Amino acid sequence: MFHKTIVRLTAFYLAIIMAISIFFSLNLYTISSGEIRRGVTRQTQIVETGSPNPLFDTVSDHLQAQREAIIDEANNQLIFRLALTNIIILIGGGILSYALARRTLRPIQEAHETQSRFVADASHELRTPISAMKIETEVALADPKLTASKAKKQLASNIEELDKLSTLTDGLLRLARLDNQNYNLEQVDVRDLAQASIDKVLPMAEAKKVLINPALGDNLSTYGDMQLLTEMLVTILDNAIKYSPVKSEVNLKTFSDKQHTIIEVTDHGAGIIDTDIPHIFDRFYRADNSRTDSGANGYGLGLAIAKDIVHLHNGHITVKSDYGKGSTFTVYLPLYNQV
Ligand code: ADP
Repeated sequence: MFHKTIVRLTAFYLAIIMAISIFFSLNLYTISSGEIRRGVTRQTQIVETGSPNPLFDTVSDHLQAQREAIIDEANNQLIFRLALTNIIILIGGGILSYALARRTLRPIQEAHETQSRFVADASHELRTPISAMKIETEVALADPKLTASKAKKQLASNIEELDKLSTLTDGLLRLARLDNQNYNLEQVDVRDLAQASIDKVLPMAEAKKVLINPALGDNLSTYGDMQLLTEMLVTILDNAIKYSPVKSEVNLKTFSDKQHTIIEVTDHGAGIIDTDIPHIFDRFYRADNSRTDSGANGYGLGLAIAKDIVHLHNGHITVKSDYGKGSTFTVYLPLYNQV
């Protein structure tokens, strides 16, 4: 599909280049051939006026014929050179147009590939719980000795799968809407942001007896959407708790450098293997530790959404991890007075 578009765009660029080249060549030909005629005529006139002689008429006819021959030859030379130049421009322009068309379409091609991969991954994730539900329900229906309690168990299992599906579709919708939603941009106090996020994950932390240690710097603010930024920080804190052992600590620190408000979340949990680190912000990526950890279920969309939110705020996010010892996620947001 993209090859055809590249060829079409190449033809379009080349048509423009050739139209310009032919236009200039025609103009050059018209002007130059006029100049040649004028120049040659002037020369022969000098010869003519300088020879008042009885033989003049014969000489004049001869000169006239020679003049036309010179003009014809000069014009032919001009046409040959202009045609050669246009052929060179056609070949060079073709190569250049093709390179330019490829370059123009590359970002669109990449976005298209990402989108296709995303749709394929989403379909795959959606299919798994749907298939599980279908098979289990079919088996239950085919069972002639299906009791009320067995049927209830089946329905409960279906609800579990439906909950997973709803988490997944919420995540997908979140990603799709991030680019198009309206933002409520304002000065955001980072202390308020940290506190609001802690409040949201506190029940989960308490249930796991994980202690959240805040160390919040004073007078730090950024410019953004409080709700979105809270969603981002909640995701990071939620992961920190989710991948931490029972009765451990999670540190939340906020400070600044010359250009950024910095939010740092450190846990003492499972950590992330080096080879997983470059991928954990990718959509649907789940490291092996999360698959084997029975308490940690998810679809690998949380950090992708968090990263998109940080990027929307012109910030960036990094992670450092010591496998088996813990991880530190660091979010850099622009300082309010530098936005
Ligand atoms: P999930 O829903 O699987 O948690 P995320 O996008 O939030 O999806 O995280 C992607 C993966 O990154 C997780 O599956 C997990 O393997 C890894 N991860 C994220 N945060 C942590 C953390 N604090 N400690 C260890 N691994 C983490």
